[in-house]
Amino acid sequence: MAEVQETDFVIVGAGIAGLRAAIGLAAGGARVLVVTKEALGESNTNYAQGGIAVAMSGEEDVALHLDDTVNAGDGLVNREAARVLVEEGPLRVEELLRWGTEFDREGGELMLTREGAHSRNRILHAHGDATGAEIGRSLLRHARAIENIELLEWTTTFDLMVEDGAVTGIGLLDRDGMVSRVRARAVLLASGGAGQVYSDTTNPAVATGDGIAMAWHAGAEIADMEFYQFHPTALSLPGVPRFLLSEALRGEGAYLRNARGERFMERYHPLQELAPRDVVARAITREGMGPTGETLPVYLDMRHVTRIDPATRFPGISKFLAEHGLELRRDPIPVRPAAHYLMGGVRTDVHGRTSLPRLYAAGEVACTGVHGANRLASNSLLEGLVFGARAAEAMREEKPMPVRSAAASPEVAGATSGIERLRSRLQQTTWEKAGLLRDAEALTAAHDEIGRLESESPKGFDRPLIELGNLETVATLIVRSALARQESRGAHYRNDFPKRDDARFGKHSLVSKGNDVTFVEFQRAEAIA
Ligand SMILES: Cc1cc2nc3c(=O)[nH]c(=O)nc-3n(C[C@H](O)[C@H](O)[C@H](O)COP(=O)(O)OP(=O)(O)OC[C@H]3O[C@@H](n4cnc5c(N)ncnc54)[C@H](O)[C@@H]3O)c2cc1C
Repeated sequence: MAEVQETDFVIVGAGIAGLRAAIGLAAGGARVLVVTKEALGESNTNYAQGGIAVAMSGEEDVALHLDDTVNAGDGLVNREAARVLVEEGPLRVEELLRWGTEFDREGGELMLTREGAHSRNRILHAHGDATGAEIGRSLLRHARAIENIELLEWTTTFDLMVEDGAVTGIGLLDRDGMVSRVRARAVLLASGGAGQVYSDTTNPAVATGDGIAMAWHAGAEIADMEFYQFHPTALSLPGVPRFLLSEALRGEGAYLRNARGERFMERYHPLQELAPRDVVARAITREGMGPTGETLPVYLDMRHVTRIDPATRFPGISKFLAEHGLELRRDPIPVRPAAHYLMGGVRTDVHGRTSLPRLYAAGEVACTGVHGANRLASNSLLEGLVFGARAAEAMREEKPMPVRSAAASPEVAGATSGIERLRSRLQQTTWEKAGLLRDAEALTAAHDEIGRLESESPKGFDRPLIELGNLETVATLIVRSALARQESRGAHYRNDFPKRDDARFGKHSLVSKGNDVTFVEFQRAEAIA
């Protein structure tokens, strides 16, 4: 039997969504435990460069932000969730300003930039290209000052406790291999994305889709898993991580050029370099395919932009490039797409409620339908803030749990070898067969290969094995949902069904344990009973 502790609320994850929710929950005096897999600050939030989209200049701005969000989502945005996002966004950002977030300013005024598919400049940024780190810093400082928030680092949540159909706590594994359990009135999943399911990703190592896998195993509904946004411009140098080259570079005027040095985006979309991300990512993929299947380079070119000093406007990017002998002012930068943001996840309503009682989700792990088939750039930090705050409000309404005896713990076995090899086979399979360009044959082959990997995966219980199992679950959900959606929409592109088909697929995909993928509408805020 594992040791069982009690608290009021548990939050899995200390990115923007988890920290904002913790502050909201603690305001009522409740005890809040926030668990993170690595050090505080190691999250997708920490790496967010470009900024946070927010309509700060009144009603017209809010209405335009809503339109842009809906348009980017390619016919699938849950309008109610998007309305909440854009209307409550300014309040949440003003709160951040009060808590000491230092967004960049010029002459005392907040500076605003623009990214792809935004109709006006509305993106706040901090320290040039370190927006997420600055927001994370200020939220963490605020959370640390609140006595009833406990922050637990280097601890992996490995499952959800379910009693009488309700989620009543979590299982924890610390870095010394000790297992424990925590019971709570409600659990919030704020565990972020799953970029590690692909071999090429901008996401850090912690992004292994744990929250989605745990929710799935507990029986929750999972939605829109076929919609993975590939960022068009990650640095493409052999042996170097896929470092993100923010869309804000194109917002400031950078061009894309193919191996012949030609600008090519005008052949793909009227907005050219600022077209929606899926369009730009597929264009780069196509331009990067040689006539005999060889890979050709594609470049991001900022040499003509003299209006700004790239080293001042993008200090983090410039520093990373300099470490690899490149300079924005002097060199065309080799780029290619990489898995970046998961639009799908644990289905929630606009209060963060999932389909399981007492289980909530907010941020990238959740699917409110706010991004539809494609996220508008810089809307996800805002999503974490707005829906993290809302989830906290709803969780505070949960009644205390009846007292129960200790829960059984899993069999603990030592570390097993060969896991890295299995993980990279999985990542490669997902990248090649369920990536930017998909078809039934490749997706079916991916499904079979993931099944083989699952049966070859060693049994045991340590963090690498827990993550491998979660990645296999997430990969299967992506492939099953991508197979079921026989059309192309947003970030999901099928070579064998290249057109959008509203009559059959103008809905969200939904899947839960033991059930086939179905297609449903998320038309109402209170869609989840
Ligand atoms: C390189 C990069 C650049 C980006 N740029 C932008 C941008 O400019 N603007 C924008 O809006 N968005 C951007 N995004 C997306 C955005 O950063 C994320 O969508 C957002 O930060 C997600 O926040 P979150 O709170 O949901 O999750 P995260 O910030 O990812 O936090 C997840 C937390 O969960 C923890 N966790 C995960 N699994 C477990 C487990 N099993 N047990 C315990 N803890 C666990 C992690 O340790 C971490 O603390 C970018 C993303 C990346 C990767």
